[in-house]
Amino acid sequence: MAGFDFDLFVIGAGSGGVRAARIAASYGAKVAIAEEYRIGGTCVIRGCVPKKLLVYASRFADEFEESAGYGWTLPGEPTFDWPTLIANKDREIARLEGIYKANLERSGVTIFKTRATLDDPHTIRLASPDRTVTAAHILIASGGTVNLDPALPGIEHAITSNEAFHLSHLPKSIVVCGGGYIAVEFASIFHGLGVETTLLYRGEKILRGFDEDMRDGLTKALTRHGIKVITGTVLSAIEKHPAGLHLTLKSGAVINTGQVMFAIGRSPNTAGLGLDKAGVHIGTKGQIAVNAFSQTNVAHIHAVGDVTDRINLTPIAIREGHAFADTVFGKKPTEVDHTTIPTAVFTTPEIGTVGLTEEVARASGMPIDIYKAAFRPMKSTLSGAQDRMIMKLVVDQMSRKVLGVHVLGPDAGEIIQMAAIALKLGATKADFDATVALHPSAAEELVTMREKWTPPA
Ligand code: FAD
Repeated sequence: MAGFDFDLFVIGAGSGGVRAARIAASYGAKVAIAEEYRIGGTCVIRGCVPKKLLVYASRFADEFEESAGYGWTLPGEPTFDWPTLIANKDREIARLEGIYKANLERSGVTIFKTRATLDDPHTIRLASPDRTVTAAHILIASGGTVNLDPALPGIEHAITSNEAFHLSHLPKSIVVCGGGYIAVEFASIFHGLGVETTLLYRGEKILRGFDEDMRDGLTKALTRHGIKVITGTVLSAIEKHPAGLHLTLKSGAVINTGQVMFAIGRSPNTAGLGLDKAGVHIGTKGQIAVNAFSQTNVAHIHAVGDVTDRINLTPIAIREGHAFADTVFGKKPTEVDHTTIPTAVFTTPEIGTVGLTEEVARASGMPIDIYKAAFRPMKSTLSGAQDRMIMKLVVDQMSRKVLGVHVLGPDAGEIIQMAAIALKLGATKADFDATVALHPSAAEELVTMREKWTPPA
């Protein structure tokens, strides 16, 4: 566009920013992107991807143990080496980062490996070397940041998920503070790797917003596996002693531990971005306020992904980035559908969920039927594992549409990805019933639940 250095300047090369930059460039726009840390963003560098690799690592101990029931004898006690895992994980992340960078370059996007902030509605300041560039359109895709409790005495001794991926050694024990999916996933990872693990959450029950049966089922499973779950209290102090960390809880209890990790939610990454200089409005949590087309109150400035605090997941950031580029540079106005989004909690056992929880459906006042099954997965019969798989359908009594599917157990995430297609198509309970079971599988239970669940009298 005449008069500007670029047609589009993207701040942040994470899930949303990279997709938007590439698609905009494919429409012929002259695009630049700035990244202050590493290309790929949270998901690739210190989020979904490295986390899932750690989840895989954490599951071998159970597999070794359970193999005996299937006739296997291991040559000796299996041992685990954290530095090997971290080095291999880092190699894979570097490979992925290289692919993201190469894809941007191949698309003709100019990359600035530095922090970018706004000087005015069309001017971007680059930190190193200090200079400014201008752009007709600006996309803010700066993601989110970890939260700590700055008022807590000794908070400087705590780590977050950022550091957890780079610990020089595995602690003997850890206290993970938080009750959201990242907290429970890391508790499960550390426990699986042999760390004595405590999960500490101020609320009554972990995983707020998830279906109650999933919350209860997972709490029981984590406890059965040996994770100590403490709810209803928080830390009041962290003290560093030569032997480790001494934690005092508001309840008065004390815990001595090797490490304490905070995973108490994330905040939109807008601090110091210069949004005030550009006149961009933010909400009470610091999130950039946008309309359905990810447009801010300043017409040529858009924002996508976690910085807008809509649904903070990678596939959503990617969709929002793509829709923005289609709308602004492809002349195809596109809104992102934020409903019926499948998600997983990669604990062991894991949760997969899509659609409405029983509680949300009931609160909306609509009459619903619940179908539930709880059973021991077939693999456990010989392995001796005690976890029960839980499956649940939330069905609209009037239309018979399946409104929600919730699964706790092995491969729940994989199962739910497929169930999400059915929900997106508006499948009814009769459609589920008419689908032939795949036998023997756990997922077949989703199409063979005939009896409505009635609450105990
Ligand atoms: P990000 O991917 O965070 O990218 C923002 C980028 O902007 C960063 O690279 C940052 O360095 C850069 N940046 C910020 N400010 C500036 C600036 N001023 N100048 C230059 N660069 C800047 N999601 C899932 O879907 N599934 C999961 O299993 C999952 N697991 C997760 C596990 C963890 C531990 C975490 C922390 C997150 C997880 N997420 C998961 C969430 C997912 O990572 C985010 O939703 C996603 O990365 C958001 O993409 P984004 O483009 O909005 O921001």
